[in-house]
Amino acid sequence: MRAAVTRSRGVMEVASVPEPGAPAPGQVLVHPEAVGLCGSDFHYFLGDIGTIEDPSVLYPRIQGHEAAGTIVAVGDGCPPQLAEGVRVALWPVHGCGTCYPCRIGRPNACTRLSLIGVHQEGALQEQLHVPAAQVFPVGDLDAPLAALIEPVSIAVRAVVRGRVADGERVVVLGAGPIGQALALAAFDRGAEVLVVDTVQSRLDHAEAIGADVLSPDGRLADAVREWAGDDGPEVVFEATGVPELTQTCVELVAQAGRVVVVSLSNDPAPLRIGDLPLKEVDVLGTSCCLSDEFATAVDIVSRRRDVAARLVTHEFPLAEAPRAIDYAMKNRTEVMKAVVRI
Ligand SMILES: [Zn+2]
Ligand SMILES: [Zn+2]
Repeated sequence: MRAAVTRSRGVMEVASVPEPGAPAPGQVLVHPEAVGLCGSDFHYFLGDIGTIEDPSVLYPRIQGHEAAGTIVAVGDGCPPQLAEGVRVALWPVHGCGTCYPCRIGRPNACTRLSLIGVHQEGALQEQLHVPAAQVFPVGDLDAPLAALIEPVSIAVRAVVRGRVADGERVVVLGAGPIGQALALAAFDRGAEVLVVDTVQSRLDHAEAIGADVLSPDGRLADAVREWAGDDGPEVVFEATGVPELTQTCVELVAQAGRVVVVSLSNDPAPLRIGDLPLKEVDVLGTSCCLSDEFATAVDIVSRRRDVAARLVTHEFPLAEAPRAIDYAMKNRTEVMKAVVRI
């Protein structure tokens, strides 16, 4: 069967790989149909992973962690809803079960985290084995839409971390796919949302979701106060990956508010530490999501499929997966979400 294999830093090729065969007990065999590409795929593809000194250990790897597909075979002992022909989304998270985060019910922060498409082979191939606990039936959702569930699940976790509540005012810095997903997830908890970005086409997507939008010219803080009122927004999300903007989030957020950093960056940036006690701000990280949060993401994408569908802007066949990742990396303002169809 065919797979898109990342051979080395910046080199992906479509190649023939062995079929995985029948699933073991507790596993299903999935035929991926649609796989989204995202910023973390680009980091992996380019070997730009801060904690790893020798990027060559990353390869070869079959990438792809934002995946939807159909079940083609079911191992013994799987729950009855996981039947042949059922379309599912893949929850990529697998924790070790024994480390501190796993013991307190947070396998998404496992010290030995094993993500499909990152630490183990991913979905850019025609078949793969997946533990039953990591596949979620998606009903009649189209495959490219179902591939959006994983990025939306990141946002579901982020709004849980930020304790976003009904009627609160939420600011999202960055209108990329995660920024859009944050708007969807914050709306789902009854919040008002302002999305900030400098790229108008991205703000148009956020507006279609129902967010207020802002392209900052001049003092961002003034514009945000004008939108949120004098107290400022209760929650601010950092989804740009620009390191300096974490300080901006702390400045923008209300006293006693919450800042959630969702984006990934290897670069340090100064933070005015005194702001944290002075404002009594919670600054929170967020990683992947828990199982029930993934189920919430299935629900959100199902209910808001009309606006979610707009986010899938480009599709490529598996044979063109190397071109897909190259195109998506080089045209980040044009491409909202590129999906590889398998
Ligand atoms: Zn992703
Ligand atoms: Zn663990």
